[in-house]
Amino acid sequence: MPDASARSVEIERRSAGALFVVRPAPAHGLGVFATRDTPAGTRVAEYTGDRISHAEAARRYDDEDMEDVHTLLYTVDRRTVIDGATGDGVARYVNHSCEPNCDAFLEDGRIFLETIRPVTTGTELTYDYRLRRPQPMPRDWRRRYACCCGMPRCRGTMLIRPPRLRAPRRLMPSAQSARPAR
Ligand SMILES: [Zn+2]
Repeated sequence: MPDASARSVEIERRSAGALFVVRPAPAHGLGVFATRDTPAGTRVAEYTGDRISHAEAARRYDDEDMEDVHTLLYTVDRRTVIDGATGDGVARYVNHSCEPNCDAFLEDGRIFLETIRPVTTGTELTYDYRLRRPQPMPRDWRRRYACCCGMPRCRGTMLIRPPRLRAPRRLMPSAQSARPAR
């Protein structure tokens, strides 16, 4: 079993070998697209960036007028947030979908995106952001984090009501949010 850093190197090597490509996406800015048929259970990228506290995240992004801030910040746990805007990780370009082909998994304090169903060449990789809905919810969040993924079962928002998610063995991140639960 390779250690975490060895796995990270392996992921970078595979991405250099063009498992996917970042290019403009029809729905939203840039997206990540498979460059080959990829089976379910393939680890495609690590969500990287500065590992900061929730307080630091709030300091960095204290302007609530900034669009999409919460889609870049990934909550690892009560202490740590990954700021995807920093560094050169490609995982931050993976867009949200309500019926995604990838999911995010927490392992040793790190976040990895993996395919959860077979993905054919040219398909955009997506995962469900599951942004945690603060209580009370800021008035503009419904508009700001509206979803237009276009899937048949689109719930119309990237937000979820916490708490929700549990998975055996592998822990899923419960949500992404810049703010500590409140
Ligand atoms: Zn949707």
